[in-house]
Amino acid sequence: MLQVTQLTKAYGPIQAVDGISLSIDRGACYALLGPNGAGKTTTINLLSGLLQPDSGQVSINGFNPATDPLKVKASIGVIPQEIALYDELTARQNLHFWAGLYGISPVEIRRRADAALERIGLKDRADQPLQTFSGGMKRRINIAAAILHKPAILFMDEPTVGIDPQSRNHIYELIQELHREGMTILYTTHYMEEAEKLCDRIGIVDRGRLVAEGTLRQLRDRLPNQTRIHLETRGLTPEVGVQLQAQYGDRIAIGEEQVWLSPNLVHQDIAELVRSCGELHVDIQHLEVKEADLEAVFLELTGRALRD
Ligand code: ATP
Repeated sequence: MLQVTQLTKAYGPIQAVDGISLSIDRGACYALLGPNGAGKTTTINLLSGLLQPDSGQVSINGFNPATDPLKVKASIGVIPQEIALYDELTARQNLHFWAGLYGISPVEIRRRADAALERIGLKDRADQPLQTFSGGMKRRINIAAAILHKPAILFMDEPTVGIDPQSRNHIYELIQELHREGMTILYTTHYMEEAEKLCDRIGIVDRGRLVAEGTLRQLRDRLPNQTRIHLETRGLTPEVGVQLQAQYGDRIAIGEEQVWLSPNLVHQDIAELVRSCGELHVDIQHLEVKEADLEAVFLELTGRALRD
């Protein structure tokens, strides 16, 4: 459904996308997981034709955005980070406007807009202007607008950032429903929980590069040791971080008020780590021994935490 080969894009000296290649099968839900600035939005903008790549090939539903932009446009639905709706129009009017851009007949527009409003749980607000909606509700309308023309593939760029839990749950349910119905989805996020929960394949991006990809199990299997001691702390300054790093070397990874240690002997390492923290005046808020998650995979691959 989607093939990308050696995609690159620079903004002056910043290499935002640095040779990304990926392939997404029809009906898959694929997560691009990476921290802020990893190049996720730039990748989505390159795939949707909003930006021209410096080099590389893209094929979407068999079409090339450079030579067949209209066919690509009909094949994709895009949910950008910035909401692309009119505040003074009602929810229904916004959807009618978007459907009109795709040349859908008026009768069909009414039918599809009603069905979309029902689907996102906002039918009762259909005739109220968008300026009375919460950010999360607007995001849901944005998703409805992006699927009105029944695209073959949906690009979602961090759709849950900065919204209320109720709208977030609606969005999760909607994605799972669309996935069950067979829609192909490319979903960008910096929340590993979302990638784990919603997507069947995950590509980890960092500094414009795809550093690993696979199912959650395949990504975890890349770690030599699957157990981690995880501490949440208070008082973990950069200086303390340097001291812990010197003491534990490659086995330790340090994020913002967080520490992950790959243990040799779990009980012995816990005792030693607790002692070290005491000596360095770091308070331990929470200690847990757990299975390696995507955060651990990201750390192992990049040496940094996803949310540093
Ligand atoms: P975020 O989650 O913060 O949106 P991202 O993974 O989507 O991050 P991008 O927005 O694609 O990352 O940015 C990748 C890099 O390119 C960053 O270093 C960013 O500062 C830079 N960048 C993005 N857009 C521009 C632009 N228009 N001009 C200059 N630099 C840019």
